[in-house]
Amino acid sequence: MKPLTEQEIRAAFVNCTKGEAKRLSVPRDLADRPWEDLDYLGWRDPQSPGRAYLVTEVDGRPRALALRRPVQGGGGMRRSMCSICLTVHDGGVSLMVAPRAGKAGQQGNSVGAYMCDDLACSLYVRGKKETGAGARLHETLMQEEKVRRTVENLTAFVAKVTA
Ligand SMILES: [Zn+2]
Repeated sequence: MKPLTEQEIRAAFVNCTKGEAKRLSVPRDLADRPWEDLDYLGWRDPQSPGRAYLVTEVDGRPRALALRRPVQGGGGMRRSMCSICLTVHDGGVSLMVAPRAGKAGQQGNSVGAYMCDDLACSLYVRGKKETGAGARLHETLMQEEKVRRTVENLTAFVAKVTA
């Protein structure tokens, strides 16, 4: 994806208040992130382990989501699959919950997805990051196909949040 600035990221949040988007922590090393290998940039809040964020591009516009993640890994070392990039991990997959945008979110509605806990889906599908020993399923899908599928799954998740 195209590199984004801190301002662009803060302006892209769809499911939190403007004040929250202004205050939440955005990585300081944005210039050093491997943007060309990212379908989305995801990060955990260093001040608040129960919070995580991601920003991606939908129809050429940045869209960012505020997420909640379990502080205690609920699944432990159970083998599970990320619903975005379909990478299988021993542990390392968390249920990320996004309050829905607008009124639905204010009424407490949210959307959840099991995702790589480190939010590094893009790097797993490109083989730039490996899961723990032997956790990777033998897949015959080409890398391009995996990337396409990851983008599709993520776009569908964002669409559910903003619906
Ligand atoms: Zn993933």
